[in-house]
Amino acid sequence: MFAYSASHDLQEPLRNIAISAQLIERTVGHEALGPSAPFLAEVLTSARRMGALLEDLLAYTKATKYEEGPPPTVDTAQVLAGVLQSLRRVIDETGARVTTGNLPAVPIHASRLSQLFQNLISNSLKYRSREVPLVHVDAAGRGGWCVFSISDNGIGIDPRFAERIFGLFQRIHGRDEYPGSGIGLAICQRVVEQYGGRIWVEHSTSGQGSTFCFTIPARPRY
Ligand code: ADP
Repeated sequence: MFAYSASHDLQEPLRNIAISAQLIERTVGHEALGPSAPFLAEVLTSARRMGALLEDLLAYTKATKYEEGPPPTVDTAQVLAGVLQSLRRVIDETGARVTTGNLPAVPIHASRLSQLFQNLISNSLKYRSREVPLVHVDAAGRGGWCVFSISDNGIGIDPRFAERIFGLFQRIHGRDEYPGSGIGLAICQRVVEQYGGRIWVEHSTSGQGSTFCFTIPARPRY
């Protein structure tokens, strides 16, 4: 709740900073600013970046709220189809091939499962190697749990960072290299934990792709 109100309340003064900087630029004029122009440009860039971070922080705090009511049993293949549809453009642009194994129905709110697939598959496409991206989504039963896996042939993750990447704002790669703010996996972790499950990276050696796994109870708990 604190993070929610903080990120929400910080947006207004930030908007004022951005608007004031734009007004200075407009009223004084870019030319007349002379050597100060780059400083003003920096104020604007930083305000925009901070705005994006606050947006992400808000998305994170919303993900920490459990969806209303007990989870319905959803057809995961259908949820995945919706996510792939929304990623159609990047899939077409990269020529990616997304394959799926047998996906069972599990008790989870469809919007939450959608968030998980969306974040993990878009990461597989973003952190692709030079090869045509191959993504495989699968599921297997294990002791009352359904273990979902999303494997890719991307740039891989150094095992030293395999736990850290789930932290808020934690990234391994620079923003110039790959855009992002390091919040997607933190959201995934919060979502999975709300259903009592966990999420991790399975044996992933740099340069050999990555496999992300998460667990969801196989049957309704109540
Ligand atoms: P973002 O993508 O915005 O940085 P995430 O929280 O989704 O944020 O991911 C955190 C970090 O984990 C990324 O910066 C990236 O370094 C690494 N990562 C996530 N998914 C993959 C993947 N499929 N392959 C390689 N690295 C990944």
